[in-house]
Amino acid sequence: MPKSISGNTYASDPTKPGSRAQVTAELKALFDAAVDGIIVIDEHGVIAEFNKAAERLFGRQASNVVGLPVTVLMAEPHRSMHETYISRYLETGEARIIGIGREVSAQRADGSLFPIALSVGEIEGGKDRRFIGLIRDLSAQKAAEEEAHSLQNRLAHVGRFNLMGEMAAGLAHELNQPLSAIVNYSQAGKRLAEKDEPNIESVSECYAKITEQALRAGHIIDKLRDFLRKDEVSKCELSINDVVSSTLKLVEADARAEGIPIHTDLADDLPATSGDLIQLQQVLMNLTRNAVDAMRESPNKDEGVIIRTSQPAPSEVQVSVLDHGHGVPPQLAKSIFHPFVTTKRDGLGVGLAISRTIIRAHDGELFCRRNPIGGAIFGFNLPVADER
Ligand code: ADP
Repeated sequence: MPKSISGNTYASDPTKPGSRAQVTAELKALFDAAVDGIIVIDEHGVIAEFNKAAERLFGRQASNVVGLPVTVLMAEPHRSMHETYISRYLETGEARIIGIGREVSAQRADGSLFPIALSVGEIEGGKDRRFIGLIRDLSAQKAAEEEAHSLQNRLAHVGRFNLMGEMAAGLAHELNQPLSAIVNYSQAGKRLAEKDEPNIESVSECYAKITEQALRAGHIIDKLRDFLRKDEVSKCELSINDVVSSTLKLVEADARAEGIPIHTDLADDLPATSGDLIQLQQVLMNLTRNAVDAMRESPNKDEGVIIRTSQPAPSEVQVSVLDHGHGVPPQLAKSIFHPFVTTKRDGLGVGLAISRTIIRAHDGELFCRRNPIGGAIFGFNLPVADER
């Protein structure tokens, strides 16, 4: 007795339920009712079967594509490489997609491309080798992801504008200082120049001070402009340990020159996160420079700063920067992430405010804690990248 696909035996009378004709009709109905596209190709990559969902997805009739090479449905680079893929599999048996599946781009009849999840299986039995491809259209899913991504960028931008209200007051205060200094130095310079025998050196010193203050005012405005620029967060999957190593190269030399070494304590096997490498480097650079600043006068400065990575919960990874400096003054504890909060003579007090905005745009959290052995711990948590 002949066997069906599921191993049952067929009745030999074609009119009876369970007959080969009936099973074939059922399979055909299943094939055409499937929501996903199903395509069968032979070992030369020629299309043998093309179901109704595939017709809808690709905008092509089965009668027009059966007999054509499957590459007519593909976009580059797979279109040119497909023949190589099949012959490599037939020769070596090494599967790169069969039983694995992947996301690729497919091409409709009108030439437009669309993202698909493709899984491929080999049809065993029969004298010719054939492959079956299941195709799921990812266009709607990708569009939703892009929408969510652009919404996130818009929200980050709005967040920054809210912060701008807070910043305006601080900015007025910050700019007032160099502007008053410029007025004072120009008046002093004028008085010196009007003397009978003006001391050129003192006048020139006034000019130098005026330049310095004007540059400081310009610097404040530049920082603000950078901050408000609507940078797109271009996220990609990345390893947080790589963010640390690449940032280390940027800050290590300066810190060592100050006699403050930077040590790393990186956890193994951390899952990937998703983010904008440059922006995350900017945050980590900020935290590390602050830690170095805090240790500059410390008797323990040769102990240095430690940058540590960890996975505090299955869904998040963490970077923390530990120092043994003077710690955060208690009166700043509540306002430390606000713009223009600084205890440094030449500080602008925007580093932590900008860092917090960046980390929030990454769905993460910037934190500040007291180091139990003295000093401070600043760091951030980021969500683990979507496994898909
Ligand atoms: P800036 O470095 O220009 O002052 P930030 O926003 O980066 O601006 O930092 C704000 C303030 O937070 C600093 O002036 C300092 O008082 C405090 N701070 C930041 N990091 C540390 C740290 N590691 N230890 C102690 N205080 C810190």
